[in-house]
Amino acid sequence: MIDLYSDTQTRPTPGMRAAMAGAVVGDEQADGDPTTLALCARVAGLLGKEAGLLLPSGTMCNLIGVLVHTRPGDEVVADAGSHLYCTEAAGGAAIAGVSVWPVQATHGVFGPAALLAAIRPAARTAPRTTLVSVEQTTFNGGEVWDPAALREVATLAHAQGLATHLDGARLLNAVAATEIPAHEYALGWDSAWIDLSKGLGCPMGGVLCGSQTFVEAAWRWKVRLGGAMRQSGVLAAAGLYALDHHVGQLQEDQDNAHTLWSVLSTEPGIAFDPPRPRSNILRFTAAGLDAVALTAACARRGVRLRALDARHLRATTHLDVTRDQAQQAADAILAAVAAVKRDQA
Ligand SMILES: *Cc1c(COP(=O)(O)O)cnc(C)c1O
Repeated sequence: MIDLYSDTQTRPTPGMRAAMAGAVVGDEQADGDPTTLALCARVAGLLGKEAGLLLPSGTMCNLIGVLVHTRPGDEVVADAGSHLYCTEAAGGAAIAGVSVWPVQATHGVFGPAALLAAIRPAARTAPRTTLVSVEQTTFNGGEVWDPAALREVATLAHAQGLATHLDGARLLNAVAATEIPAHEYALGWDSAWIDLSKGLGCPMGGVLCGSQTFVEAAWRWKVRLGGAMRQSGVLAAAGLYALDHHVGQLQEDQDNAHTLWSVLSTEPGIAFDPPRPRSNILRFTAAGLDAVALTAACARRGVRLRALDARHLRATTHLDVTRDQAQQAADAILAAVAAVKRDQA
């Protein structure tokens, strides 16, 4: 099966497993695990931040970002299609006591005017808008923000007294797509993180970065939420291994997504949204066909896609999909589209 369901489907490679097995470890929660400290310093450097901390998931990176930057009763501005708003079980509401103002953005990218319109008036009766969160690349279609656009939003947010949080689950995919370094994207964002369990191919984890003060506050929440670990070096070693060996792969994922796009574009019924994929995520509809029927037809031909709703499908390239498999998958999807069209005719 060629698994394009998500880049979370990657399996740890033999090299990564060996690095994990050989990790030097300590007690993270008591006095620091050396391999974890090395990973946090490395990612903080990559993002141009003072410090970082390892968390079990990207979801916890977002939750702790919200917890540190807000107080109960505050409001967070985020894209209506964002991971934070749609697929984190309303952690901000349930645990941080905040509401989210969902911005209707194009593929998750919005400008200063949209942010300004989302900020509540300074009235006694209104929630206090205290944080803006954006994603690079976006969950809502894999779009890539330009650094200038990110900086404009961050600058306006600060001028309005908001804190800024960058969900960089796939930030390194944006780096692969544009060759712009990660720290340029993170400039002006008070907190920023990368996921280890997506394109980097680790079994789990994310590294949340910011100022020393931010990370100290984040540490308290990590403990409170039960995210403080012991011999976390076993996980951190996977992260360090991925930064040494898997970052180059993100470029290939980018190329494979382009291959899929260019082959699938030969079928006039297939429409991409966004029209030209910028990273490793393709979202599309196929001649109005039922997405569930089409994923089943693809599965019978050895390709796993994700049905997002009744009509939209998603394909994501990653470490465990080779160049040849991307080509094979594109051909199989075209054959499946033809077959479902025949069935429904
Ligand atoms: C996957 C993802 C997350 C959450 O990361 P997990 O490690 O799966 O908890 C957050 N934001 C975005 C944009 C993501 O794609």
